[in-house]
Amino acid sequence: MEDLRKKYLKKIKRIVVKIGSSSLTSPVGGLDMENLQKFTGEVSKIKDDNLEVIIVSSGAIAAGLKYLNLSDKPKKYSMLQAVAAVGQHDLMRVYSSFFYKNNKKVGQILVTREDTSKREQYLNIKNTIFSLLELNVIPIINENDSVALDEIKFGDNDTLAALVAGLIEADLLIILSDIDGLFNKNPQAYEDVKLISLVSDINEEIEKIAGGIGSNYGSGGMVTKIRSAKICSFSGIPMVIANSREPDVLQKILQGKNIGTFFIPEENKRITSMKRWIAYGMVTKGSLKIDKGAEEAILKKGRSLLPVGVTEVNGHFTKGDNIMVVSTDNRIIAKGISNFVSEDISRIKGRKEKEILEEFGPGMCCEIIHRDNLVIF
Ligand code: GLU
Repeated sequence: MEDLRKKYLKKIKRIVVKIGSSSLTSPVGGLDMENLQKFTGEVSKIKDDNLEVIIVSSGAIAAGLKYLNLSDKPKKYSMLQAVAAVGQHDLMRVYSSFFYKNNKKVGQILVTREDTSKREQYLNIKNTIFSLLELNVIPIINENDSVALDEIKFGDNDTLAALVAGLIEADLLIILSDIDGLFNKNPQAYEDVKLISLVSDINEEIEKIAGGIGSNYGSGGMVTKIRSAKICSFSGIPMVIANSREPDVLQKILQGKNIGTFFIPEENKRITSMKRWIAYGMVTKGSLKIDKGAEEAILKKGRSLLPVGVTEVNGHFTKGDNIMVVSTDNRIIAKGISNFVSEDISRIKGRKEKEILEEFGPGMCCEIIHRDNLVIF
């Protein structure tokens, strides 16, 4: 088992480490200073070994609640955003002072789903991260909870961390949590549980196991961790889930020790940066249902999506928006950038190229999603 891990850890240069709220807060509320000191010390050690480290850190809301002496999360969204504003600042203050003791500098990047949805801004985030690394600064990233719109939030930092790992082409994503890894059953409910050390295929069984395991404090639990493992796998990046309170956890993972759960990425699956953005950076605005013929053409023959195969248009979207492609049995099989507004697709769906040209002219013809802008799942 260790040998297989080591194979994937051979050429590690750039690592994204995500640390969850449950690892940063103590059971009595507020920031867990001891664990923060441990974590920042371990990150500093890796940095001293000449590795590039990018942190995705939760904990803003948890820190804000303590700072404001609130026992529960406020129900009103704007109030929750205010709590995050207070907590994010407090969290960074603590990070800054612990890293300072290790002779390290930090920089904060706060992002929203809207930022990653715009190509230019998405690339800007990448450039800023690279510049921080060049300046020898440790980037600390969180969702901008104080301004993010509730409806389109990432909501959990597991997904954000996987997106960041893909964006900067990291060699490894480490998710540190309050759990040792993925167990075969919920460890809070059963005693005879076994830690799954290696996952090479994120199949239905793995997703089912994850469905029953939550987290005490963070927003994700195991479901979002498995989702981010899928994103990583699709981007060709290995991922590890491990317990943040395990001594020297980062060092042990990097040495290939058998701790936590290691997710092996799909072979030869590094999709292009453009396609990664389409798949995970952009907000989806609608969907198209397609027939069996179109499904085969895009999945097996690598073709573009044409009007003739579209059977249903859902949602209102415009040219350049991201849309999902759904099969007859309602599976999301692809995502891509639409060349038309949704109303126009409703007019040309199911029609052959010749008919469209005759009735509407060349402006309405023909690829709805070009294969270069189509990501197949
Ligand atoms: N962004 C949230 C925070 O800083 C955490 C999201 C999560 O728990 O994954 O509080």
